[in-house]
Amino acid sequence: MDMETIKEWDGRYVAGTYGRFPLAAEKGAGAWLTAVDGKEYVDFTSGIGVNALGFCDPDWAAAVARQAATLNHVSNLYYNVPMVTLAKTLCERTDYDKVFFANSGAEANEGAIKTARKYSQDKYSEDRYEILTLVNSFHGRTVTTLAATGQTAFHEKFMPLTAGFAYAQAGDLEAIKEKVNRHTCAVMLEFIQGEGGVVPLDRDFVQKTAAYCAEKDLLLIADEVQTGVGRTGTFLASEQFGIKPDITTLAKGLGGGLPIGAVLMGEKCADTLGPGDHGSTFGGNPIAAAGALEVLKKVDDTLLAETVRKGAYIRRRVQAMPMVKSVTGLGLMIGVEFTGCTGKEAADRALGKGAMFLTAKQKLRMLPPLTITDAEIDRGMDILQETLTELQKQKEK
Ligand SMILES: *Cc1c(COP(=O)(O)O)cnc(C)c1O
Repeated sequence: MDMETIKEWDGRYVAGTYGRFPLAAEKGAGAWLTAVDGKEYVDFTSGIGVNALGFCDPDWAAAVARQAATLNHVSNLYYNVPMVTLAKTLCERTDYDKVFFANSGAEANEGAIKTARKYSQDKYSEDRYEILTLVNSFHGRTVTTLAATGQTAFHEKFMPLTAGFAYAQAGDLEAIKEKVNRHTCAVMLEFIQGEGGVVPLDRDFVQKTAAYCAEKDLLLIADEVQTGVGRTGTFLASEQFGIKPDITTLAKGLGGGLPIGAVLMGEKCADTLGPGDHGSTFGGNPIAAAGALEVLKKVDDTLLAETVRKGAYIRRRVQAMPMVKSVTGLGLMIGVEFTGCTGKEAADRALGKGAMFLTAKQKLRMLPPLTITDAEIDRGMDILQETLTELQKQKEK
């Protein structure tokens, strides 16, 4: 199918919720995507931090195909092998006690919110339900996770949202303390605000917030939907912040390209949810679980060390480019702010030259596959360098 037809059908039949780049994907391998017109692109997006192993990793694809031909789905009224194996592997890897499987980041966060509310209502009273989140956070698009998202721009036109959320400024422990009241049951945060512009939280603030939550028996929920599964150079970003939240949510990178979400529960709340309290038709799907198991196998200590090294290398290269104002993030989650152009202008122009980048707020955002090679990084960085040089010349005119 040609680009014109694809655009026409998309415009006519698909709900218009996305502003798309002018690229129609045909196939991919590793860090390379081929468009329907045959043009090839080096990928610094991995979906949006989803394809941790790149496009169509052969071992991942084989595991998924094998599972699809063995057992595609069975309801949660029965057990299945990939689901329990993934649960055991995840818990052992992260030192959490139990996991609930969902199908997306928003759903994982919904599960975390329900767990925190039930924990507090079981232990204290029914009026202990409020979740405190951070200004500029992003937790999803469902009505409840929108309420959790601390950005009013996302709320408009969808009011009223789920009640029982409050927001505090990131980096300010006093602001947290001020907002906590007798209704509060949990604090929810991202270690690096991804959609908010790749903004890392201050380590001291995180540690003090964790200690304060422990003192008040407020559950600390870490939304690691974007930062988890090796993205930042450790399996969980919380390892680098030196804390263990009561609940951690995962999604994006976990399935290697298949929809999956996970709510990891620590000892306080591992047994909070009982029969009938929560559920999902697709959650724990054997094919998604088989894909996730292959991701966990490959995101080992060697790949994590490589993620740190490659992230540092990208930062060094970016810092030497024109118009670069700041570089933020950890590992292979990187945000770049420019002085003379927006991230969107740079991403648009780089795409024309054969490299895919994301944006977050005014920044250019990079979430390349963790398996990207040095040569592929250089290809993308050469294109970005050329892009910024041209944009700078254009601005000077
Ligand atoms: C992407 C994202 C979500 C939402 O995930 P979906 O799978 O799109 O529902 C939630 N939280 C964070 C931090 C994210 O980056």
